[in-house]
Amino acid sequence: MSKFLSSRFDGLEAYVPGEQPQDQQYVKLNTNESPFPPSPAVLAAINADEVSRLNLYPDPEGKALKRKLADFYGVAPENIYLANGSDELLNFFFMAFCDKDRPVAFPAVSYGFYPVYASLYGVPATAVPLREGFRLEPKDYRGIGKNIVIANPNAPTGRTISVSEIEEIVRTNPNNAVLIDEAYIDFGGDSCLELIHKYDNLVVGQTFSKFRSLAGGRLGYGIGSPGMIADLELMRYSTNSYNISRLTMAAAISTLDSHEYYANNSRTVQANRAYTVEELGKLGFETLPSKANFIFTHCKAVDGGTVYRKLKEKGVLVRHWDKPEIADWCRVTIGSRAQMDVFLDKVREILKEAGQDA
Ligand SMILES: *Cc1c(COP(=O)(O)O)cnc(C)c1O
Repeated sequence: MSKFLSSRFDGLEAYVPGEQPQDQQYVKLNTNESPFPPSPAVLAAINADEVSRLNLYPDPEGKALKRKLADFYGVAPENIYLANGSDELLNFFFMAFCDKDRPVAFPAVSYGFYPVYASLYGVPATAVPLREGFRLEPKDYRGIGKNIVIANPNAPTGRTISVSEIEEIVRTNPNNAVLIDEAYIDFGGDSCLELIHKYDNLVVGQTFSKFRSLAGGRLGYGIGSPGMIADLELMRYSTNSYNISRLTMAAAISTLDSHEYYANNSRTVQANRAYTVEELGKLGFETLPSKANFIFTHCKAVDGGTVYRKLKEKGVLVRHWDKPEIADWCRVTIGSRAQMDVFLDKVREILKEAGQDA
């Protein structure tokens, strides 16, 4: 840190992304990427023609992509905000709607970026504890009178709440902005998207990074009332008006044309999830019910940090946090059946080694 950094950022602790090793081949189950490449149509769309137009700026309004998304979700283009990854949507949500007089509440165990944005913008933040079994209790947010950010399914737990429970939260906080982060909604959960037609204080955030195999393309979007979308656009045009690259827009349009390919991949991931949970159960692991492309799991025999470290030594990356309430747990991305079999084999080895040590 230099002496030039503004004192506004005193004490700011940045988000730490999952490891992205560029050198060694790991079975990579640590950042919830899809094990499947983008669809053949997407590969074809990023062709020499598209690349040859990279001398030109992209459409700052993203009209073609917004129209495509609007048709896909049965909303108007005015309901859609395009973001450079849904992390950017989160950034602009905090920038636009939260300040020292408009505090924010989010679950104490959730996506690690929420407290970072609160800190970045000097927003008082309430971390609402989860209940037994990392269950989110909707009543804890009923009429809370603060802006609210909830991931549904929650990360890293994978647990969901119902659309009617979300509606209760949105309805009872009419003077506060609510962001429901649905990064993982397409792995078996129910989207609350329909609520945007009824409530003007809701933004639903989704991403192309997980279900749509486009993490490297960086594309997220928010869907909400035209008023809130206009506020987000104000933030974007005051920060970076060309936030989505030409190639990413072309890839995204072909992605939406290939919906069946991705829906099929999601069914495979859900089947692999059920298989992994069942096999882990046989090994004495307890796993939370997940509607995401990852599971949150632990066992009595070996602590979470050790499982993480030993798996890494054996070439399998999962995610582990040193936070006391979750230090015993690991989050494991659901990959292909072959990847999950390697993971399960390594877990069996680790349990065996732990037994021999005892
Ligand atoms: C992965 C993730 C995001 C961000 O995804 P982007 O790649 O920035 O679109 C947002 N929220 C949650 C809960 C996530 O897990």
